[in-house]
Amino acid sequence: MSYEDNNIFAKILRGEIPCKKIYEDNFVLAFYDINPQKKIHALVIPKGKYIDLDDFALKASSEEMVGLFKGINLVAKKLGISTEVGNGYRALTNISSHGGQEVPHLHFHLFGGERVGKMVE
Ligand code: 5GP
Repeated sequence: MSYEDNNIFAKILRGEIPCKKIYEDNFVLAFYDINPQKKIHALVIPKGKYIDLDDFALKASSEEMVGLFKGINLVAKKLGISTEVGNGYRALTNISSHGGQEVPHLHFHLFGGERVGKMVE
């Protein structure tokens, strides 16, 4: 499977579709989910063209990997939910059909601001 250039997050990265931006650096863009499932629901995506976590693990550079994980922590801190400044959160990434992934550009959901609840249905 190859990366689909017209997925919605690729369009957001190119500035073709607006988003409520939380944070951006060379490696990641973070914005609020359009349909929040918890009090705080953010999305953190790498700037590179990766379909999902498997694709990222296989193809991303070490620099991009560090950039993504550091980015998640920075965003969580900015939102006041990281363990340094808050009460924690859930980071979740869906992978392909059994994982329930809808948008084929790697993204981590950050849920917080309240107890997140049961891990899986
Ligand atoms: P997935 O099911 O792929 O893990 O999650 C995709 C997420 O993207 C969903 O939570 C959905 O609400 C969110 N989403 C879909 N389209 C848009 C959009 O245009 N803007 C934003 N901010 N979020 C979106």
